[in-house]
Amino acid sequence: MIQRQHQGTASREAGDAGVRPGPSSRLVPLPEAITVGHLAELVHASPIDLMKQLMRAGVMAAINQSIDFKTAAAIIPAFGYRAVEATSPSKATKEKDTEEEDLSQLQVRPPVVTILGHVDHGKTTLLDAIRKTKVAERETGGITQHIGAYQTEYKGHKITFLDTPGHEAFTAMRARGANATDIAVLVVAADDGIMPQTVEAINHARAAKVPIVVAVNKIDKPEADPDRVKRQLAGQGLLIEEWGGDVIAVPVSAKAQTGIDDLLENLLVVAEVADLKANPNRPARGVVVEAKLDKSRGPVASALVKTGTLNVGDYLVVGNVSGRVKALVSDAGRRMRSAPPSTPVEILGLNGLPLAGDVLQAVSSEREAKAIAEERLRKQEGTRRSVSLEEVVGRIRTGESKELSVVIKADVQGSLEAIRDTLVRLGTEKAQVRIVHAASGAITETDIFLAVASQAVILGFNTSMEPGARRLAESEGVEIRFYNIIYTMVEEIQGMLEGLVKPVARDVVEGHAAVRAVITRGRQSKVAGCMVSDGRILRNASVRVLRSGRVLYDGPVQSLRRFQEDVREVAAGMECGIVLAKFDEFQEGDILEVHRQEQPSGR
Ligand code: GDP
Repeated sequence: MIQRQHQGTASREAGDAGVRPGPSSRLVPLPEAITVGHLAELVHASPIDLMKQLMRAGVMAAINQSIDFKTAAAIIPAFGYRAVEATSPSKATKEKDTEEEDLSQLQVRPPVVTILGHVDHGKTTLLDAIRKTKVAERETGGITQHIGAYQTEYKGHKITFLDTPGHEAFTAMRARGANATDIAVLVVAADDGIMPQTVEAINHARAAKVPIVVAVNKIDKPEADPDRVKRQLAGQGLLIEEWGGDVIAVPVSAKAQTGIDDLLENLLVVAEVADLKANPNRPARGVVVEAKLDKSRGPVASALVKTGTLNVGDYLVVGNVSGRVKALVSDAGRRMRSAPPSTPVEILGLNGLPLAGDVLQAVSSEREAKAIAEERLRKQEGTRRSVSLEEVVGRIRTGESKELSVVIKADVQGSLEAIRDTLVRLGTEKAQVRIVHAASGAITETDIFLAVASQAVILGFNTSMEPGARRLAESEGVEIRFYNIIYTMVEEIQGMLEGLVKPVARDVVEGHAAVRAVITRGRQSKVAGCMVSDGRILRNASVRVLRSGRVLYDGPVQSLRRFQEDVREVAAGMECGIVLAKFDEFQEGDILEVHRQEQPSGR
């Protein structure tokens, strides 16, 4: 009675009955068989219309008769829907990190370690030192290769290191939902002490709730002062063990390769305390560390298996790419048949290039892999991991959350301290401010990633934003509020802690111009002779004068001219003269950021 006329996978065949699914067609999970009546309900159509559509496809079925998945999938595009298998794919699409593990199956797994610290403090040298002493020993004859992560062994226990040091990569991965790291090694050069990026690294590791082991590096240097490092650490709230705290600090010299064993031993201790376990007897889940297109091998993804075991032949979905594992290659360049938890592997056989931070998941069939990958692709647009201020404050209002997480960037250290001190004292019964990170300077991409990963709001005080950061903030939906008066900031934050958000005008940057010359006009005012570098300059807008990333002034444009003529707008690539209402101390090299306020109603 039921004629099957459609071949191929659900996703492909969905367009078959002469109706192509529109880009806006919605996905609907369908079981192996479904009655016409039930299907009509699911796609919000009348059973009669559905039966007509079936007839057009050559299938006669009554309202209480069942049709199979393929047939159903073929006709529902006419109603604006596309089918996915109900049982596995849509369930599998959910992030399974929180999925219940079979406790009886859990086994100890190696820790995954990331190295953080200030530039030039020896992160790369330390990674190399660890790799040299151990990996070569173990894999005699194997050619160690760079696959984004490697595994070493100490006293029969494995430890996995991620190869990209620094908190930028660490937090970018976290922002994409990949919490790959179990332990952070904070490298501090003993001759240099704690530097701004050391503090950033500490904040990023804390935001990720990852334990920190300190490697006090460069102790071979005569000017090394490990005690000063310990004191400085205490100043950051990291009290080392010998002073009664719980932070392990290991003196090392990455260059002379001393103290490395001691560091590895301590990493194992911390891993043991953290009780890191995974179930190797289940389909693999993992995270992509890096991916590249290889001329001869096609897409190659370096990944870290987090739980389960990945085998050659497994069907995979990685982000929105799918495939079947053709080969697995270890960090020692060896072919592997399978990769257990915490193992870094190169995967061959994907049909596209995934992104670093993408979640990898082994599934039972090609069809399932494809369906999930496509569903993800469709969902991608709508998914934001960041939260809007309205959502955060809404949660405080309902009592669901007792914290307002913020990342603070300010022009100078002085105002930063003042803001920090004021904000921590603002807590009400309803909620407290949690400062995820506070530093001076412009808002960077890393700040945006940190805000996404920590569901935080960014507060900018008298500071600007790097262009890349602005684009990222917009695409990730991160909320940024700029202030130039502490009082206004405090007032707003206070309101947020009470569960109130004042809808504020949104600051829209229209463009930038570089000051090329400063021209004195008459007695009073100076004209900034500018070249518009991006966007446009508007007469009816405000200008922030930026010098070395600091905001010197913010106020309205008084006049905008091209060749002595007043104009309303000047586009990128053109020159113009700008006069500001109450500022004329321009210098060559200043950047003028043109912005205007977009009222909340117009959002
Ligand atoms: P990174 O920017 O943190 O990755 O730092 P690098 O690993 O590139 O090291 C920066 C510089 O410090 C290089 O010139 C290294 O040779 C040097 N260096 C790293 N570790 C040590 C050490 O233990 N002792 C000494 N004397 N120099 C070191």
